[in-house]
Amino acid sequence: MENRWNPAEAAQYHTDLDLRVYSSRLLGQDPSLVLHGGGNTSVKVTETNIVGESEEILYVKGSGWDLATIEAAGFAPVRMAHLLKLAKLDRLSDPQMVNELKTQMTNASAPSPSVETILHAILPYKYVDHTHADAVVTVTNTANGGERIREIYGDRLVIIPYVMPGFDLARLCAEKFTAEAGPQTVGMVLMNHGIFSFGATAQESYDRMIELVAMAETYLAQQGAIQPLTPGTVSRGDSRQDLAQLRYDLAQTAGFPVILATHTTPKTLAFAQRPDLAQISQQGPATPDHVIRTKRLPLLGRDVASYATQYQAYFQTHAQPGLTMLDPAPRVILDPEWGLCTVGKSVGAAAIVADIYDHTMDVISQGTALGGYQALPAADLFAVEYWDLEQAKLRKGGKPPEFTGEIALVTGAASGIGKACAAALLKKGAAVVGLDIDPAIVGLFDGPNFCGIPCDVTDEGAITIAIEKAVRQFGGVDMVVLNAGIFPPSRAIAHLDLDHWRKVMAINLDANLTLLRELYPCLKLAPQGGRVVVIGSKNVPAPGPGVAAYSAAKAALTQLMRVAALEWGGDGIRINAVHPNGVFDTGIWTEEVLQARAEHYGLTVADYKTNNLLKVEVTSAAVADLAIALCTPLFACTTGAQIPIDGGNERVI
Ligand code: ZN
Repeated sequence: MENRWNPAEAAQYHTDLDLRVYSSRLLGQDPSLVLHGGGNTSVKVTETNIVGESEEILYVKGSGWDLATIEAAGFAPVRMAHLLKLAKLDRLSDPQMVNELKTQMTNASAPSPSVETILHAILPYKYVDHTHADAVVTVTNTANGGERIREIYGDRLVIIPYVMPGFDLARLCAEKFTAEAGPQTVGMVLMNHGIFSFGATAQESYDRMIELVAMAETYLAQQGAIQPLTPGTVSRGDSRQDLAQLRYDLAQTAGFPVILATHTTPKTLAFAQRPDLAQISQQGPATPDHVIRTKRLPLLGRDVASYATQYQAYFQTHAQPGLTMLDPAPRVILDPEWGLCTVGKSVGAAAIVADIYDHTMDVISQGTALGGYQALPAADLFAVEYWDLEQAKLRKGGKPPEFTGEIALVTGAASGIGKACAAALLKKGAAVVGLDIDPAIVGLFDGPNFCGIPCDVTDEGAITIAIEKAVRQFGGVDMVVLNAGIFPPSRAIAHLDLDHWRKVMAINLDANLTLLRELYPCLKLAPQGGRVVVIGSKNVPAPGPGVAAYSAAKAALTQLMRVAALEWGGDGIRINAVHPNGVFDTGIWTEEVLQARAEHYGLTVADYKTNNLLKVEVTSAAVADLAIALCTPLFACTTGAQIPIDGGNERVI
């Protein structure tokens, strides 16, 4: 356990609240302490209000903020006097508590205070830090966890048995604290949940947290709980079809398209191949904080339907009348061949599940080595999963972008129309796989929603590898934009050699046959139906002299699209073409080339660019918007169609 306190850095922070920000971020930087919005911190300060009165204020972490990146604005200021009165009530429902916390803030635009606010208020220390430290959670999630905690910490910590976060937990802590705390007390352990540390200064509280967690880590090491990894067996099979099928089953069960991310590493394989997996993985999560994200249990193997049946039974056993069941799809899947797979409504959600379960595997393995990992009973976990405060949070989330949970593949995505298509798809929430021969494709877009793969589309083997990679990362391919192509220099048929012809055909036509054939199994399993858009050309309906190979390739590609529409309609796959013309904002059209072409026709550059019936400039972005619109429900009843996007052309009309 690393103590990250840096005196030089800390010296830059001056007020009590600023130092609270600093040490909160230090806690947030260590994933073995808190993950994704877990944990919370506070500081008590005296302030003078607008009418000149002195008030004690608790600044406590606001909901929606992550400790790793929190700022002063992420802390909610709540009046201590009222919090201490609330703590004396016999009972207070969760919605009442939320209302009281909100209405006692001194800044109306601050975020909602943490549900653990009253708990922070009753602890008589200036700084209070709370984490879900892996090592502490591991020790408490065992049959005799309480005894072990006592053995490690003696009377330095007050031990609180598990109670769901909220008013009842704060009340219990207040009682136990009054009875048991003394000058030796530096913290508090919440069984099956986490740990608190306190101090008069930000550094004292932080140092104690690090020291206390390090003691649990040392204990685990001494007990032989931290064991070397036995690497799992790797099978290097082609998983595209099986993963796409699994994702289809998950989406059917969930009722919405999902991202299925595969994390095949020596660690996940070792865990998923453990002979005792069925026993140790089916206890429950390490801390209730995780149950919302990971669901109570992982799916072992690939039978989503029976998982859903078991989830329904679990819901019916514990639910109060009137409660609506959440979707019954698993979020964590353990598979001996793939290791860990995680499921989410978005790439980000699946990644959070992966981070959480990466730590859960350690907690379970170490707890097992300690004599038996033991999570909370199902009823307690159910109470958290269906906690009305969490339900309200879920309902509050606005409508996600249209293609959230869907996956698109774009060829020739590093520039021009392909890049514009990738950008438009990302904007609509899709996970995007971009293929391009240009290695710059790898870093073309930031963020986890984009996967750039360098790929020569004329190489069948490279295409297979790229699709396998895409499906392992996101779970399938739902939409395809066939854009990669070349526009060769003008050449009359009288001088057209077969090498030139074949090269154009290989890229502009043959590669697309390979892509369609190899992507078909995925498109067939797209939860909302597969969609393909072919970037054709005005040259299909209206060819020009000197471009025989290009025009013939695009015409053949259009015919391939029409046959695919006939063959795949029964699979719910829609395939359509757009025929752009005069798209000048791409790499090949430099200012010089434009100038030369315009002069050739006796036009200015501006007139040349808008040389169409509508006198409009056709941009890459406009072509991309049309291509992406073809993937939306607006065109749900359209397949095999060809749509010009050329500003209006007499020969096409
Ligand atoms: Zn907590």
